[in-house]
Amino acid sequence: MDQHLYSEEHEAFRALCKEFLAREAVPFHEKWEAAGIVDRDVWRKAGAAGLLGMDVDEAYGGGGQKDFRFNTVLVEEIVAAGTSGLGFGLHNDVVAPYLADLTTEEQRQRWLPKFCSGEMITAIAMSEPGAGSDLAGVRTSAVRDGDHYVLNGQKTFITNGEHADLVIVVVKTDPSRGAHGVSLIAVERGTPGFTRGRRLEKVGLKANDTAELFFDDCQVPATNLIGEENAGFYHLMGNLPRERLGIAVAAVAAAEHVLALTLEYARSRHAFGRPIGSFQHNRFVLAELDTEVTIARTFLNHCILEYNAGRLSVTDAAKAKWWTTELQTKLIDRCVQLHGGYGYMLEYPVAKAWLDSRVQTIYGGTTEIMKEIIGRGLGV
Ligand SMILES: Cc1cc2nc3c(=O)[nH]c(=O)nc-3n(C[C@H](O)[C@H](O)[C@H](O)COP(=O)(O)OP(=O)(O)OC[C@H]3O[C@@H](n4cnc5c(N)ncnc54)[C@H](O)[C@@H]3O)c2cc1C
Repeated sequence: MDQHLYSEEHEAFRALCKEFLAREAVPFHEKWEAAGIVDRDVWRKAGAAGLLGMDVDEAYGGGGQKDFRFNTVLVEEIVAAGTSGLGFGLHNDVVAPYLADLTTEEQRQRWLPKFCSGEMITAIAMSEPGAGSDLAGVRTSAVRDGDHYVLNGQKTFITNGEHADLVIVVVKTDPSRGAHGVSLIAVERGTPGFTRGRRLEKVGLKANDTAELFFDDCQVPATNLIGEENAGFYHLMGNLPRERLGIAVAAVAAAEHVLALTLEYARSRHAFGRPIGSFQHNRFVLAELDTEVTIARTFLNHCILEYNAGRLSVTDAAKAKWWTTELQTKLIDRCVQLHGGYGYMLEYPVAKAWLDSRVQTIYGGTTEIMKEIIGRGLGV
């Protein structure tokens, strides 16, 4: 089914992404997975190739393309190349709007050129050991002291946590006001009192440096406040739909990719003298998955275009996030089954896709939290 989402310009960008990943990521990916972190070099190379900050203004070194489809093309190609865990999605899809839209001119000049060139890798630190879904419950504090904030606390599960040169940290600036006392403060590499903990060992996405962060009387210049003091929760709510859309894009891309691989396998693998895909049970499973992926893609494309038009609602982003990621995990699990024993072998992409997929229903807001958001929107 041709969904007509992309133009020739997007396809030209796709060719560039494909070529870049084949040259700069695929040959090294196994090594990065074993190390638990990618080489920093790949970020600079991606920046030079125009794969970072596609929608940041050209004046700050970005691509100047206010069109999320360039972001989605890159994510689709990373999935197709099997190079998960690069961390570009977090940088481009999640962090970019905070630095581009909530900042002062001075901050944009200071941060965006390096963001786009790959010299500055970014992260966002919301989750803490005691608070993930319940964001208003974060305990990391920031107390104003003259022209600085003094941060104390701990974050965990932070994507790009070790490589990050700038981390947007969600802090409490007024603990008495709950969600209305939350602020966003950019903490830069080398700030005294900012240290990184363990690189966390994960089930999948093994090439990504997911880490713990610690702030111990960490003195951050007040000029690193992003947006307004005590309006951090509001800023997060404004940007979480884009984060969730980005996760849905990866979910549908992975589902489409794994289904295509599995169809090929089901046609070529024989048992009892027939291709395994020709058994009615398997044919029906594949038919159901193909139907669901088409539905997911159709809704996702609608959401992408709504986002481009500035109309993507919080509830539609939540629907896209939970439904596509639940489909992704279910589909990949069924596809492992269709591969038989080979599906459990890591040399088969379906096995790695299975490991990588599991987190999708958890980060960026769990399936349950997405349903809470949708339910509240229904007035129940
Ligand atoms: C690989 C990875 C990368 C991550 N990257 C980042 C990152 O870059 N930055 C960042 O800030 N965080 C990151 N996270 C953290 C992630 O966003 C959180 O793990 C997630 O939001 C869930 O929070 P939690 O782990 O504290 O679970 P909890 O909030 O403790 O939830 C535990 C369970 O209870 C359920 N639950 C909680 N509240 C409710 C409710 N009201 N109703 C029904 N069920 C509920 C949840 O759905 C879940 O099933 C990452 C996590 C992982 C695993």
